[in-house]
Amino acid sequence: NRQILLAQRPQGLPDQSTFEFAETTVPDPGDNQVLVRAHYLSVDPYMRGRMNDAKSYATPFEVGKPLTGGVVGEIAASNHDDFQPGDFVSGNLDWADYTIAEGATLQKINPDNTPITTALYVTGMPGLTAYFGLMDICQPKTGETVVVSGAAGAVGMIVGQIAKLHGCRVVGIAGSDEKIAYLQDELGFDAAINYKTTNNIREDLKNACPNGIDAYFDNVGGDITDAVLFQLNFHARVALCGQIAHYNAEKVEQGPRILPYLLTRSVLLKGFIVRDYAERYEEGINDLSKWLQEGKITYEENIIEGLENAPEAFLGLFRGENLGKQLVKVIE
Ligand code: NDP
Repeated sequence: NRQILLAQRPQGLPDQSTFEFAETTVPDPGDNQVLVRAHYLSVDPYMRGRMNDAKSYATPFEVGKPLTGGVVGEIAASNHDDFQPGDFVSGNLDWADYTIAEGATLQKINPDNTPITTALYVTGMPGLTAYFGLMDICQPKTGETVVVSGAAGAVGMIVGQIAKLHGCRVVGIAGSDEKIAYLQDELGFDAAINYKTTNNIREDLKNACPNGIDAYFDNVGGDITDAVLFQLNFHARVALCGQIAHYNAEKVEQGPRILPYLLTRSVLLKGFIVRDYAERYEEGINDLSKWLQEGKITYEENIIEGLENAPEAFLGLFRGENLGKQLVKVIE
């Protein structure tokens, strides 16, 4: 049973020395427990925060212990009445071939309906993040302009498509020409800006948003967000979803003092974590599944093969190597 452990807490940007590989025997499940064989791991930016020894909404990883995250897999052995060997499940499990889990913490997946990876993406955590952040905080209305950063990532590409479904002008910000082309040509974004090659992101935003910005779904923070916030309309809404540009920062960064500007435009700026909406997940899953089945939304997965490559997949998030959801396929 191969496992990936946290070797040490990273200072700044993580690298291979953050991770350590271990080999253990396959454990036996106890009462009400099951043994899950991983098929796919979800690779997520929020895992960076769990590598710090700091109090946050998710408990820190322990040094010398396996990393954990979203996993879909198959029941290999069961001491729980609800699960039989061969059943597919999703849960928060180790970055390993096998994990012992309490049956009560797992969700069953029906592999006949949709690919099993859907549970890690469109109808799972990233899809629900996009859905509730946009629908509940940004509240998109027909004819409005919605800007999304991190637009070609897992959450961002779903946000933009849902905003299009609601009749908005949608402008995405992302980090490569390939991503820009994908957003415009495949997903029908009205405009998209490559923040890595532009000379003047504020000018580009002005051109892309002739009527100003009514809602901003922020996945990244930093200079990109500073540029967007200066162009918000009266009564604009900002969903603070992610701040990946700051996740590796070693001290609090300085930025423009923007609050007076937000005040005079009566802007709503709200941070959220998807779990805030736990009681409404069913509503989100129903809408997302329906849109997926009707072909109203689509998605991309960036699948890297092999558990041993999971650290590199994680590091790739900070280099923008993924179009859509970053996953690791564990089984051969
Ligand atoms: P993504 O699939 O979007 O992957 C991360 C992307 O971020 C990269 O592909 C890269 O794309 C971009 N990026 C990396 N570094 C920077 C940087 N310094 N400045 C700007 N962009 C950068 O990840 P997710 O869709 O899973 O997550 C998106 C955001 O949402 C993250 O910040 C994440 O932490 C947050 N999140 C929040 C949740 C919540 O409950 N609030 C739940 C899930 C996610 P590019 O090529 O464009 O640079």
